[in-house]
Amino acid sequence: MSVPLRHHYTDRADWFARQEVTQGIVHVWEPAYREDYRCNIYVIQGSTSDLVLDTGLGLGSLRTYLAPLAPDPLLVLSHGHYDHIGSAFEFERRVIHTAEAQIVAAPTHANTYADLLLAEEDFTPTPWDGFTAADWAVEPAPATGLIGEGDILDLGDRRFTVLHTPGHSWGSVCLWDEARGFLFCADTVYAGEIFDHLPCSDIPIYLQTMRRLRELPVRTAFPGHGPILSGDEFRLTIDSYLASKQRVKT
Ligand SMILES: [Zn+2]
Ligand SMILES: [Zn+2]
Repeated sequence: MSVPLRHHYTDRADWFARQEVTQGIVHVWEPAYREDYRCNIYVIQGSTSDLVLDTGLGLGSLRTYLAPLAPDPLLVLSHGHYDHIGSAFEFERRVIHTAEAQIVAAPTHANTYADLLLAEEDFTPTPWDGFTAADWAVEPAPATGLIGEGDILDLGDRRFTVLHTPGHSWGSVCLWDEARGFLFCADTVYAGEIFDHLPCSDIPIYLQTMRRLRELPVRTAFPGHGPILSGDEFRLTIDSYLASKQRVKT
């Protein structure tokens, strides 16, 4: 493992926090960033390989932090927004849906939406003294593989099916562990205001995606933001979104 040194990292201790939520699934987050915008990072430990889903902002070295848990994981990016991809460059094996490959290959404040959503006031504390949103720099991290609907990610004792779930963004994906009823649903379904108004969002497509996910026998949903949801909470979240868009024609 080698973490590039040119990147500007915080030297604040405890930039990341973590909790094992169930056996072999560790939730990692960046406590200093505002709670509703901070990304849920998941480490999923398998018998033959480990998977990391999303990376947070890249202001601390996620790879170093995760080394004891998952020394050589496959990184899956649920989509290309700034809050999910900042540490992607630290991982040797990283995949994203074809539709967003160009974002991680040439990320900017504009195409990752950092320019719309990232603000220094949203950190307590800031990663370093004098930090401004303009300091946030995301390194290019061209995908080493592309994923799409129906692909299987096999970790030995866990198997995930990639679901292409556009709506929040064109290349959003969820990971579905059918055997356990676990759905990693990223920014597609989470408790809180659903972001369907970004330039990359499409509400009619989002409604189709929501209806599709509503039919899955989800027991536990692991979203990209906010708390982990029971199956019933997951379906209620979808139902309230669908109800709020009743007048949108599909
Ligand atoms: Zn997003
Ligand atoms: Zn997000």
